[in-house]
Amino acid sequence: TPTDKASVGLVGLAVMGQNLALNIADHGFPISVYNRSASKTRDTVARAEAEGLSDKLSGFEDMAEFVASLATPRRVIMLVKAGGPVDATISALRQHLEPGDMIIDGGNEFYTNTERRSKDLTDQGLLYMGMGVSGGEDGARMGPSLMPGGPRPAYEALEPMLRSIAAQVDDGPCVTYIGTGGAGNYVKMVHNGIEYGDMQLIGEAYDVLKTVGGLSAPELAAVFDEWNRSNLQSFLIEITAAILRTTDDLVGDGSALIEKVLDQTGAKGTGMWTVQEAAARLVPIPTIAAALEARYLSALKQDRAIAAKVLSGPSSAAAPSLSAEDKAALVESVRSALYASKICSYAQGMNLIRAAGTEYGWGLDLGAISRIWKGGCIIRAVFLDRIKAAYDIDAELPSLLVDPSFAAELATAQSAWRSVVTTAVNAGVSVPAMSGSLAYYDTYRRTVLPSAQMVQSQRDFFGSHTYKRLDKDGVYHTRWSSDG
Ligand code: NAP
Repeated sequence: TPTDKASVGLVGLAVMGQNLALNIADHGFPISVYNRSASKTRDTVARAEAEGLSDKLSGFEDMAEFVASLATPRRVIMLVKAGGPVDATISALRQHLEPGDMIIDGGNEFYTNTERRSKDLTDQGLLYMGMGVSGGEDGARMGPSLMPGGPRPAYEALEPMLRSIAAQVDDGPCVTYIGTGGAGNYVKMVHNGIEYGDMQLIGEAYDVLKTVGGLSAPELAAVFDEWNRSNLQSFLIEITAAILRTTDDLVGDGSALIEKVLDQTGAKGTGMWTVQEAAARLVPIPTIAAALEARYLSALKQDRAIAAKVLSGPSSAAAPSLSAEDKAALVESVRSALYASKICSYAQGMNLIRAAGTEYGWGLDLGAISRIWKGGCIIRAVFLDRIKAAYDIDAELPSLLVDPSFAAELATAQSAWRSVVTTAVNAGVSVPAMSGSLAYYDTYRRTVLPSAQMVQSQRDFFGSHTYKRLDKDGVYHTRWSSDG
């Protein structure tokens, strides 16, 4: 009978899919699951049994049987590797689907792929969505932040389930309809770019306090604990304190594990996509770009070892021993610098989202988007309430920087921010994201940019690219020369 049918299906049972399937079952929605390799299906069924959810979750090893087990219109969530695997999964699935059925890609897919697939499936009457799922394994199981985009009727068909499985915060579940087309993937991509920025800024704060301030790992853990009770309160600050408290079990010498971790960072591509997208869209995102480049520079470990022997500069080996008072002052300055830099980074990310939304007519609500990042995802933070408030006051805000309350905070933070960047530069400690944020702030607030006057004059000099004047209308070209 139709009542025996599952309300949703999920294909792709690696880390994310398996946990999301259990989350869905746990919220009382009967679910059917399928994976290309049957072993993961069996693992998922076994986990459901162990968690007392077997009456809500059924595993299938045959795609046709899997699809036949779903109530119509069918709703199938995919959590497979982005790119070719998604295309392969769709072509297997679509043979069994009927008009009105829905496919939802929950992976980190590039938005144009979602838009291409959506068009491709329209002929068959299928509805296609790209839904960002954030929060990693724990988020998927306990409540992620969900960023669904695509046809609104498909969202509405899924909404009760999505609201139920998403992370819950003070003002509701961490899900909202993002917009049409690939909007959901786009917003998830920029979320990840912002995550890169936050992580790098925290990394730089750690470097300055450790290298310039001479703080020990236990002292640093206490600082981050304290910051987690300030306007910086967030998941990433919380895990930073936990990382700094973790000692090395392998060697067992009681030292902080972080000091043994190889200084090379990996990346899976969403940060790169964010920077590529911003560049193509002419949107400046220097903090996020600096974070990406810092990862790439870290990867040049061997080159850096050679350069360290050749290139001179202040030594970071011997940290000065600061008085308790000076340490406390540095900690407070770095907190201000981190917070101000973070405001700039979010301003950049939100402006990138807005630029794409305007171009594609996605109808985005930036306040609602910042709200759903308050829980479930890696960038969750109390700070996001402030961003939502800024857009609630003025949805057309050209930048978060000019929101009166953020502008006031930047004004308060800036002398500490400048001193931290200066101190770091003088000590030979690179702070590309903090100084990138500061340069963004200083450029943005300056009415006349002499560097731009020079660049445009040079363009006209060698390429006759013309220029406009500050004092008169019109377009000009000059034969620039010293003898006129
Ligand atoms: P994943 O490692 O990205 O993908 C593994 C899944 O893809 C398996 O189910 C695998 O099936 C399937 N697959 C691979 N190639 C295939 C093909 N040619 N045809 C059909 N299926 C194929 O898994 P994940 O880490 O759980 O991530 C899933 C998606 O969520 C990705 O887009 C990822 O970027 C995104 N995401 C991940 C995280 C995270 O923390 N891991 C967080 C947010 C978003 P087999 O078992 O048969 O190989």
